[in-house]
Amino acid sequence: MGLAGTADKWRGAAGHLWLTARALFLLVVLFGLTAAARADGLLGATGYKMAGDATRMRIVMTFDREPDVKWFLLRGPNRLVVDLPRTRFALDAKDVKPRGLVRAVRFGDQGQGSRLILTGKGPFAVDKLDVLKNDDGGYRIAIDMSAASEREFDEALANQSLTTGSTVSADKGGRVGTGPISAPGHRFTVVIDPGHGGVDGGAESAGGTVEKNVTLAFATELLGKLAAVGKYDVYMTRENDVYLTLDDRVRIARQHEADLLISIHADTIAVKGLRGATVYTLSDKASDPEAQALADRENLSDQFAGMKIEDDNKEVTDILIDLIRRETHGFSMSFAHTLVGQLSTSVGLINNPQRSAGFKVLKAPDVPSVLVELGYLSNSKDEAQLLSADWRGKAAQSITNAVALFAAAKAGARAGG
Ligand code: ZN
Repeated sequence: MGLAGTADKWRGAAGHLWLTARALFLLVVLFGLTAAARADGLLGATGYKMAGDATRMRIVMTFDREPDVKWFLLRGPNRLVVDLPRTRFALDAKDVKPRGLVRAVRFGDQGQGSRLILTGKGPFAVDKLDVLKNDDGGYRIAIDMSAASEREFDEALANQSLTTGSTVSADKGGRVGTGPISAPGHRFTVVIDPGHGGVDGGAESAGGTVEKNVTLAFATELLGKLAAVGKYDVYMTRENDVYLTLDDRVRIARQHEADLLISIHADTIAVKGLRGATVYTLSDKASDPEAQALADRENLSDQFAGMKIEDDNKEVTDILIDLIRRETHGFSMSFAHTLVGQLSTSVGLINNPQRSAGFKVLKAPDVPSVLVELGYLSNSKDEAQLLSADWRGKAAQSITNAVALFAAAKAGARAGG
């Protein structure tokens, strides 16, 4: 935008109005600023946008001309550093507010040049960093990041040489000396996700049993049973009464390179007589209205973080649904099927115990995931079972058996294929 253009537009907009002294003053200030911007020759960063969640983010920074970009990773904490020529940053404070996978956004002068530093909420992968031309003549840097494990971050760190953004897409296949695709010592890994926590209590029975406590007690039992097998690495998304967003739970599963995510719940339903366990998998189309209603209730969990469901967030969520690979979905379905079979030997199940709906916590594109509703806190018999250590032990054993069958089948498929 030229200086003369600005002034003409300004006058045009003023129309018949005569310039007051105040407006004239503003015009002079505007004139001064624009002139300074042109005179110092700095690169102008004109905008910044960030969309996504704790599992996947897209970051776009716009410039008045083509930036010469180099980027690299730093750890302790996990950071992406983008080196720029000396830059004047004219960014909106609300746009650079940290969110999702990004814990902090910093930018500024750094001796000879300027820097943009993104601090991750844990390890991440830079899937792509491109410098692109905008339709309006300016340029933008587009960065795609996704939650990753420490091992993946360290590997990228070890492989990095100073990289030029305009020519490099962080294409894993293109790197020299990259190690094997999965860690040599990688054992079958299960992440157990006790639903709710902290300010988000989840469902509550008439007698005052709170879902977040039931899920944690059960998850702890299951952790013990799975760990006792001695063949798996087992983690929990939370080990105490803390609040986690749904995408934080997915991020933690990806961080551990989980082969399986099992989210544990125990909800309430208006029909007091209804009882029994249900196993849910992800689907963008719910299997039935009840499954849809349950997914809607569970997805409300994020509201405790004061997060409004934003439009761009929703968009990314849809993209995520598209990204779910057929393979992952197939594994989730196959585990759900095995799980229903095993649970049926020890635990009461509802009719049609294998269902599906759009649960946010099941949306990791590469982690087979199921959500288990252990029973209904609205049913007093189910409630009594959920509070019984004996019942918990039996149900956790059934899940452990299902995990063993699934892990063996997956190992067999790998060895055979
Ligand atoms: Zn729940």
